[in-house]
Formats: sequence, structure tokens, C-alpha cells
Amino acid sequence: MSFDTIRKDLQAQRIVPHLVDYEQTCAKHSWKAVQASLQGLPEDGLNLAYEAVDRHASGALANHLALRCLGKDDSVRDLTYTDMARGSARFANVLRSLGVKKGERVFALMNRVPELYFTALGTLKNVSVFCPLFSQFGPEPVWQRLSRGDAKVLVTSQALYEKKVAALREQLPSLQYILIADVTDDLDACALSLPRLMTASSDKHTIPQTCPEDMALLHFTSGTTGMPKGAVHVHQAALTHFATGRYVLDLHPEDIFWCTADPGWVTGTSYGIFAPLLNGVTNVVDEADFDAERWYRILDEQKVTVWYTAPTAIRRLMRIPGNPRVQHDLSALRLIHSVGEPLNPEAVVWGQRVLGLPIHDNWWQTETGGIMIANYAAIDIRPGSMGKPLPGIEAAIVKRGEHGIEEITQPDVEGELALKPGWPSMFRAYLHDEARYAKSFVDGWYLSGDLAKRDADGYFWFVGRADDIIKTSGHMVGPFEVESALMEHAAVAEVGVIGKPDPLIGEMVKAFVVLKLGHPATDELRLELIGFARKRLGPAVAPKEIAFIESLPKTRSGKIMRRLLKTRELGLPEGDLSTLEND
Ligand code: ATP
Ligand code: MG
Repeated sequence: MSFDTIRKDLQAQRIVPHLVDYEQTCAKHSWKAVQASLQGLPEDGLNLAYEAVDRHASGALANHLALRCLGKDDSVRDLTYTDMARGSARFANVLRSLGVKKGERVFALMNRVPELYFTALGTLKNVSVFCPLFSQFGPEPVWQRLSRGDAKVLVTSQALYEKKVAALREQLPSLQYILIADVTDDLDACALSLPRLMTASSDKHTIPQTCPEDMALLHFTSGTTGMPKGAVHVHQAALTHFATGRYVLDLHPEDIFWCTADPGWVTGTSYGIFAPLLNGVTNVVDEADFDAERWYRILDEQKVTVWYTAPTAIRRLMRIPGNPRVQHDLSALRLIHSVGEPLNPEAVVWGQRVLGLPIHDNWWQTETGGIMIANYAAIDIRPGSMGKPLPGIEAAIVKRGEHGIEEITQPDVEGELALKPGWPSMFRAYLHDEARYAKSFVDGWYLSGDLAKRDADGYFWFVGRADDIIKTSGHMVGPFEVESALMEHAAVAEVGVIGKPDPLIGEMVKAFVVLKLGHPATDELRLELIGFARKRLGPAVAPKEIAFIESLPKTRSGKIMRRLLKTRELGLPEGDLSTLEND
């Protein structure tokens, strides 16, 4: 696939990508130089919120639009960098007045409204720890995280408080204050009105000494493979957020950027708050949930230039027949990125054909705090590949050998994806689980738990999560390969593939298929799909069984939960369901 057109478009818009020559950028990269692009605080201090807003508010971008918040009711709230600096200063002063200290946890359980962003940035300005929760969690997952995370303060709305927290408040002894963002009067001595406190607080605030290694964020993982883990991040993560905003998202201050993830997931903070603000762009936030028509309208009306979304959303858009560019002007868009799950090659090609741009896949985890492997604006995409490591990141394919971890240097050989520790946004702990943290680092490598391979040109290809790999007749099969092959069939909307224990061949490849509208689930189609997959994958790897289902079980962050497909198939206990979408 040639991407000369994108380069021409970029030239026409006179936007020179930050990263043009990959090898040269890698050779020249140093984290010290990235740090020098930020301002820092006296005595080698570094505060993520200072760099994200205050730095701009006292510079050339003071009146530049930082946040455009689109309400569910179609209201629009615009905030400049100065507004963001002031609002977050007020929130920091609220925390100070309540006696909330450095390192103490401030949780947010809110819709995507401006107060959420003041809470995040203001908490960091107070050098307390910001812990976002997805507002659609039920009471049990909320309680579990507040309790495991030692919440001192919770910022929420009255409805969310009454529905999800009030009944369990007695069981949260460390939770001292609940700040309610949409009431004018306090509910009781501890459930206080946030607007009242904000109005009573000054919008001037001096950030106390912050060390780059001070704890800044606590993020729970998606729970795709089991009980969500609490990953701890520090202020120094700002360097990765800033650098990936440049190298990967290719942000320039004139950009209108939209990240569709909720800050309850790490993508929604690293890229829904920090990377865009650190790079001084206008960040679009939509309060509403996924709606294809609404999303195309936002891209069109807001003139979004750089868009960061996820495979699950792209697959939903792909199901809709027709061409959105007939009703919508998407010509402002110059880059589309995706993260969260493997992006089927079919989706990259669909982007080029239907949206006029290919989709740039990138890989990272809650633990890595930022993008680690990516497809870059000016570099050819290989559809189905996650791309190449970020400049400054050493990634390798490794295996556990007789003498510990061994690097696999031959191309196209599967192994575990590992990273050399030491990048700025690397997690510093799994909360309350030191043993698990220690086990993630072996012989000088961080082991990701994902399997991948690297081709001769240095592109990385995702194979599957170690837990999801299927061992069939002596072959190791990654579900992604099988899912991508079936996705090429015109009737298929979505697929999840698992290994089902089989006495003869170890595990049998079984596919759960969601069909597109207008394609009835018949035995004929089942046989056709098996034949279709066999032609592409060969009989050893193609599914032997196909089941048609209405929808796939997914995490609330949109990831297919193959472990649930498997436990349901085998009638086993389902395990932690706190992040399941349709519970
Ligand atoms: P848990 O660790 O609780 O089971 P999780 O791993 O899904 O949940 P996240 O940290 O949100 O939690 O997701 C990171 C994982 O998502 C990666 O380890 C990988 O398996 C998958 N992933 C993310 N981006 C990509 C991508 N571009 N291609 C393939 N897989 C991806
Ligand atoms: Mg994980």
C-alpha cells in the first residue's frame, strides 16, 4: 500500500511531521533533550499539571483553546489554557483547604465534563494522586477500587454518588470527603458542594516542590485477563506523554485533537488529557457515548485533525454500509490512530477506502503509561503490524531459555514482547502487590505478557496475549490471526477466537462470530466460513467450530474478553466481571 497521498496532503497543509526519518530520530533521541523541551520547577522539580497547563498559561498559548467540551445535550463549553490553569488552581486550593496531602488519593467518578479535568490537573498540582474511575462502573467495582486504592477524596455527581457510593460509604473508612460537582449546597458534613468550595477558593496557586518520581496517577488495568491491577505512575511520565504526542500523534498547536477514550482508562488520561495539553493543542472532549452519526458529526463540525480511537469503535463504524464522506466533510482529518486491541488489517484498508486515510495502530499498556510501539505519520504502514518502537524505547522478542531470558534475534519468530526498563512513564508499582511487580522484570527486561514477532525490517506484529494462545496439534496459534482472516469475509462483523480443550489435538480452534445485519446465521454460512478460513490459514490453524452469537463479551474499555468466551464454553466459573460491558 502506498501512502504518498498522505505525504502530499501533509505537505499541502504545510504540516511537516515531527518524525520524518525514523532511524535518524531514534539515533538523536535522548530523554534529557525531551526534558529540556519542558519547563520544570526549581531544584530539578517536575509537575505534570504545571507542564500541561500553567506553562502554556504564562506563555504564547495563554488564550489558546485548550478544551472544547461537548455535552450530551449538545452544549459546548470552551476553556482556554488560562481557564484550565485557573480552574485547576482552584481545585488544588480546595484540596489544600481540606487538608489533603501529598501522595493521598483523589478519585474521580464523573462524566466527561470540565470539572473532571480540573480535578485531574488540580490533584496533581497539590501533589496528591489522581485515580480516575469509569462512570459506568457499578457500585461493587467502584467500592472495590476506592477501597484497594485507599481513597481519601472522591469527586463525583449527585446521581452517581447516590446510585453507586452512598450505600457503601460506611465500608470505606479512609474516604474522608466526597465532593459533589453538581450541587450548590453540602449534602452533609463530608459530602460537600464542589462549586461552593471552588468559588470560595483562589484561582492562584503555587505548586509545592514536586519530584519527578513523586506518585501522580493510579490506574487500574482493564481486567481483560483477570482481576484489574492498580498501576502506579509518577510525574516524570510527562516526558513520555509529551514525546509520544509529538512522535506518534504528531501534534502541532494548530491541531484539533480528539481522543475518544474515557479517562477511566489509561488512554483517556495519557492521551485524553496530558499528551494533547502538554503539546498545546485544542483537545475535544465528548460527554456522550459511542454513536456513529454523532461521531462523524463531531469530526466534521469540530474540524478534528488528529483522531485517536480504538478497534472496537472502528469495527462498529465498519459495519455501517455507505460512505460517511457523502454527508460529512472529513477533509480536516489528517491522521487516525488506534489502540487497545489488535487492529485487523481489514480495518486499516477500510480507513483508507472509506475515511480517506489509513488507520495507524499503536501498542502499549496501562503499565507502560504511554505508547511504546507505533505506526508513524510519515512512515509506511504495514496493515496488521503495530509498527516500530518509539524512539528511546528498546523493544525485543524474548523467550525463557535455560539461562534465563534470551533475546530472539531472527526475524518472524514468535516470543514474548519485552521492553528495556527505564522509560519515564514506566509503572513504578502494582499497588499493594510488590511480588507481582517484581515478577514482571526478569534479567533486565520488562515482560509484557503479550506475544509478538518482529520482521526483518523491524516492524512488530502482535500474535496474542500469552493467556490466549491456542496450542493445537503442536502449533501455537494466536487468536488475532484467525480473527483477522474471518474479518475479511463480507458477512462477518466481529470475531473472538479461543482454544477449546480437545483430547486428540490439545486444543481446538473455535470462533465466535457476530454477523453483519442482513446475514442470517445458517449452517451453510458456517461451512462457508470454515472453508473461507481454511483457504487463508490452512487446516491446522483454521477454526474447526464456529458459533454465531449476538455480541462478544467485552470490557468497558472495548476489549474482547476471550477468557469469558472460554469459561462460558466450558461451564467454568467466570472470575472477576467488574469491567464486563454488558453485566
Ligand atoms: P488486564 O491486564 O487487567 O488483563 P488489559 O491488559 O486489557 O487488562 P490494558 O493495560 O488496558 O489492560 O491493555 C493493554 C493490553 O491491550 C496489551 O497488553 C495488549 O494485550 C492489548 N493491546 C493494546 N494495544 C494493542 C495493539 N495495538 N495491538 C494488540 N494488542 C493491543
Ligand atoms: Mg494487561
